[in-house]
Amino acid sequence: MPEDTILIVEDEPALLRGLTDNFEQKGYRVLTADDGEKGLHLALHKQPSLIVLDIMLPKINGYEICRQIRKQNLDVPIIMLTAKGEESDVVLGLNLGADDYVTKPFSIRELLARVEAMLRRAQQIQSRRYHFGDFELDMVGHRLLRNGEEVTLTPKEFSMLQLLVRYAGRALTRDEILDHVWGGDILVTRRSVDRCITTLRAKIEPEPQNPIFIKTVRDLGYRFEPQ
Ligand code: CA
Repeated sequence: MPEDTILIVEDEPALLRGLTDNFEQKGYRVLTADDGEKGLHLALHKQPSLIVLDIMLPKINGYEICRQIRKQNLDVPIIMLTAKGEESDVVLGLNLGADDYVTKPFSIRELLARVEAMLRRAQQIQSRRYHFGDFELDMVGHRLLRNGEEVTLTPKEFSMLQLLVRYAGRALTRDEILDHVWGGDILVTRRSVDRCITTLRAKIEPEPQNPIFIKTVRDLGYRFEPQ
């Protein structure tokens, strides 16, 4: 972790300074930007390990930065800083590709804990083995193991699980899932997503009716609970 670089995009000077000091104290390398244009440039060209991103920014706002980053297929984790009481901001941000959010005013300790958890998960994904409950998802071997025994998944179920795990903690919309798992296949509908989730839950959830891994996010889609 000591070599991780955090990009902080925030236009309030006092907050930016406070965040920078705290992250540096923890041993992170910190890049800062006080407007969206600079932030987007650093995000695209400096390969930060994680981005802390304010929404209301001069020049380019946080949503647009998220959108641009994901458009370039960069999967750097993004934590958004949202204003209190703006639930719609959160949904929009998550839909545009943010991984998590904290609501202002927040405790720096809480933000640091989220950042640490997210970096740990990113490393686990990179190692291509993800553990949850009694399961191990082996992304190189393309198989799911329960206590070392292989659980048979259809190719779609496997892709679905891989996608959910990759974005653990983040709500994925049915359309996003369709795009990733079914690609450009126009004959499938959002119902196909729900059916695949049902069969996947039957295979991994201790109680499929009361899921602990794959949660339903009302009116939106699904979220894998980070372990
Ligand atoms: Ca701001």
